[in-house]
Amino acid sequence: MKKRGNILYLVVPCYNEEEILPIASGIMHDKLKSLIRKGAVSCTSKILFVNDGSRDRTWQIIEELCRSDSIFSGLSFSRNYGHQSAILAGMLAARSHADMVVTIDADLQQDIEALDKFIECYNSGCEIVYGVRNDRDTDGLLKKASANIFYGLMHMLGCNVMSNHADYRLLSKRALDALAEYKEVNLFLRGLIPTMGFQSDVVYFDVKKREAGKSKYTFKKMLTLAIDGITSMSTRPIQIITIMGFLVSLFSFAMIIYCMVDWLSGRNVPGYTTSLVVSLLMGGLTIFSLGIVGEYVGKIYLETKARPRFIVESFILRETTDKENGLELTGEGQDICLK
Ligand code: UDP
Ligand code: MG
Repeated sequence: MKKRGNILYLVVPCYNEEEILPIASGIMHDKLKSLIRKGAVSCTSKILFVNDGSRDRTWQIIEELCRSDSIFSGLSFSRNYGHQSAILAGMLAARSHADMVVTIDADLQQDIEALDKFIECYNSGCEIVYGVRNDRDTDGLLKKASANIFYGLMHMLGCNVMSNHADYRLLSKRALDALAEYKEVNLFLRGLIPTMGFQSDVVYFDVKKREAGKSKYTFKKMLTLAIDGITSMSTRPIQIITIMGFLVSLFSFAMIIYCMVDWLSGRNVPGYTTSLVVSLLMGGLTIFSLGIVGEYVGKIYLETKARPRFIVESFILRETTDKENGLELTGEGQDICLK
């Protein structure tokens, strides 16, 4: 097979990560430099931080890092768009510069040492490499339970998602070009990327505890991701409603015949409890079904408006100088700002 280019861009979404960034950036820097030294990746490889509308000093720290070393680059959103948009923006921004992109969380819970294995898979011809966690020991009870329910539900609904694969993954330039063709606003990359096909592989890694700061995935953000995941990948819930509606109609029809027979034979009994239970059940089911249908209608509404999936306020990318290739620092580079 023809050898492919080896410029790697690490895309790191950051939302209020001022506590972890100074530590994480050092570890990422050292890892990338060691990969460069080994010749595993090109010396023009970079770490691209995506600031997802943080309200703390995250962007200032990223700017300082970019100023100190051209191995760092940064992209900043105009507001918080969420983790999925942040990694998508990073990947799309890196597409024209990189041969492969790996997305990794800023908190380094995902083992960065697994990068070597990702690159090996890429070199053996994979276009997509999925990082899958070995266990969930570091997660709290709520996170574990909600993840299990979510993956169980997704599989039941026929969605092709990989259990325990978060967004630690490698995409080649070819896969990125394919991803850029998807214009959907309702983003669920974990479900979307496997539908693209391509030769792929899996790399297993251990998950560590968060070194600093708290989880940025609040319960509300997790719930939104789960609903986005289901509604963007499957229309099975609507089919279930149709089947449920059909069964309920059959039952009602049988009840009507039964009541008519009762009435004709003059055996009318007061059925207070029955009618109350049936009407409550019907009311609940109707509202719930309407809600699910509404969820899809809402998503169609957002898709038809086709609003931008994110707005980039600034983008810093400095060219790697020859001197820096010798691992030395030089002065200011050129900033590219998309205003
Ligand atoms: N994140 C983001 N935007 C958000 C929430 C989270 O970019 O609105 C980033 C966050 O900075 C981190 C990654 O997504 O790099 C994963 O978040 P976190 O570690 O808080 O999630 P957890 O590991 O608890 O699931
Ligand atoms: Mg985390």
